[in-house]
Amino acid sequence: MTHAPSPAALLSAAACPVLVVKVGSALLVAPDGTVRREWLASLVDDIAARTSAGQRIVIVSSGAIALGARRLGLPKGGRASLEDAQAAAATGQIALSQCWAELLGDHAITAAQMLVTLDDLEDRRRFLNASATLRRLIALGVVPVINENDSVATEEIRFGDNDRLAARIAQAAGAGGVVLLSDVDGLYTANPKNDPEAKLVESVARIDARIRAMADGGSASGMGSGGMLSKLEAARIATSAGAHLAIANGTHDHPLARLAAGGRATVFTAGPQGKGRKLWLAGRMTARGRITVDAGAQAALAKGSSLLAAGATAVDGKFVRGDVIEILNASGETIARGLAEYDAGDAARIMGLRSDAIAEVLGYAPRSALVHRDQMVLL
Ligand code: GLU
Repeated sequence: MTHAPSPAALLSAAACPVLVVKVGSALLVAPDGTVRREWLASLVDDIAARTSAGQRIVIVSSGAIALGARRLGLPKGGRASLEDAQAAAATGQIALSQCWAELLGDHAITAAQMLVTLDDLEDRRRFLNASATLRRLIALGVVPVINENDSVATEEIRFGDNDRLAARIAQAAGAGGVVLLSDVDGLYTANPKNDPEAKLVESVARIDARIRAMADGGSASGMGSGGMLSKLEAARIATSAGAHLAIANGTHDHPLARLAAGGRATVFTAGPQGKGRKLWLAGRMTARGRITVDAGAQAALAKGSSLLAAGATAVDGKFVRGDVIEILNASGETIARGLAEYDAGDAARIMGLRSDAIAEVLGYAPRSALVHRDQMVLL
């Protein structure tokens, strides 16, 4: 695919053989809590057209909580408490998958459901397992319909929004692109609701402080949970996995056909494709600990070196060898993520020491680094 693809390129089977389409709650569920079936049927028409053109589609669908809340008569769209949300999700999910299966079935497309938790994708072995299932479904010509397993996920360890889930799924599915269908056209230079000068940003090559400031305007709909900041985080995960990500307006019928016909969107350009473990590391959202480094080590890491104990200035958290940890610079920004070569206790004992002094402290020949460059990604 070209360096900065048009939104339409993401809908091309040749340029993007596997595409993840995320559908937000506000598009799928009407304010009265019923499925917007006509709109959904128009989206499924588009999906069927893409499938006949040879493109494989993976759907990440929200809406379970909103649908279930109405059936159970729960207040605040089912989000008044975790228990309510979990009961609503369990009730709404069965209706949601039935709806997708029926509408896809009308086009003779087989649907498959996968419900995943954050943990399923953060644990390397389970991630590989989910990835293998997804790839098999795709190869079989089935359309996977995915949601977070909200009825069992706990408050602290959940995606909470399907934007980041979609990005993680793109990584697991080996997708070339993600389209987040939302109720806004994309990222604006300012909040378009209160700034008439706000302009749509059509392409983003790098997510920096300037771009983050633009996203700070808040969420659009209030029904789902993903605001613009979670979309940016999704873009970071997807682009670091080598997938382009578009935020596009899905409010009209046939949203994918509109995009293919030149509809506007914000496209975040994919970075170079990482490989295997490194790719998974880049997309991870949780870490067991943190090591802070000095400016010299930061510069060395940027040049591709391993993290040596000499450059570490602080060790936090309870991690053991092999756990994922974050590496922070002196100003507290996360600059890399990697697998710890030492337990937290030993890492703290040897931080700041040169290699020759380490053996004396530990009583054994030290490993070459706190985090080896082959087990580390720069962010
Ligand atoms: N997983 C939630 C649901 O199905 C939606 C999360 C989100 O709003 O992005 O209701």
